[in-house]
Amino acid sequence: MSAHESEWTLRRLHAGELPAPDAARARSHAAGCAPCAEALKRFAQVQSQFEAHLPFEHFEAGIEQALERQRAEDRARAKARSRWVAPVVSLAASVLLVVLARPLMHTGAPSNRLKGGAVAELRIGGGEAPQRVVDANLREALRPGERVRLGYTADTHRYVAALSIDATGEVTALYPDAGESLPVEAGDGMHWLPGSLEFTGTGAERVVVLLSDAPLDMDALRDAARRAYAVSGRDLDLMPALDVPGEQTQWTLLKP
Ligand SMILES: [Zn+2]
Repeated sequence: MSAHESEWTLRRLHAGELPAPDAARARSHAAGCAPCAEALKRFAQVQSQFEAHLPFEHFEAGIEQALERQRAEDRARAKARSRWVAPVVSLAASVLLVVLARPLMHTGAPSNRLKGGAVAELRIGGGEAPQRVVDANLREALRPGERVRLGYTADTHRYVAALSIDATGEVTALYPDAGESLPVEAGDGMHWLPGSLEFTGTGAERVVVLLSDAPLDMDALRDAARRAYAVSGRDLDLMPALDVPGEQTQWTLLKP
């Protein structure tokens, strides 16, 4: 048994993910151990570098614009529906807010490995509870105030997209909100899509991250999501993979 805390333990301590007794033990060890204290200091430096890479003011404007565009499209669709369909059924659309939050840490947390070296990860944080990674295809309950960040390791893939579907089948394009999927960020390792997501409303929300070699059209992706939802018998937990090229990971969140 090593005399030092493991790097994984120290990372979790830094991320606030350790249960209180373990955190107390690790902290007290690090207080009297130069190598472990040094490791913690390094994580803090990496964290501040990471945060410097994600200037939220910058993203806020872009995301607000994107949300406004999406709202305008939704209004246009609702208008089209009301013109052609009677009686009008008003669906309580799941409203998706993007809020400012501290970026989540990139720790070596357990990931949802796609085949090859590609990985997609969904992290929950920003609330009272410790940050956590959600296993694909499991249901995870969001606590009030908690937000979601999506990350990926692209491996050989060149484009990334994300969307979500609520329990009524309403599809929301997340990244990007329209147009074609985004070129992946350069460099190896985990990249986080900008901003954190807060899912409002109630019930389940299925989140899908897609990595592909060619850009995918977001309208086509939304259609593919609606088809998958229909195939599932309107049960998000049973939703099959979207019938599109590339690799994808799905998670089901239960909104608070
Ligand atoms: Zn030590």
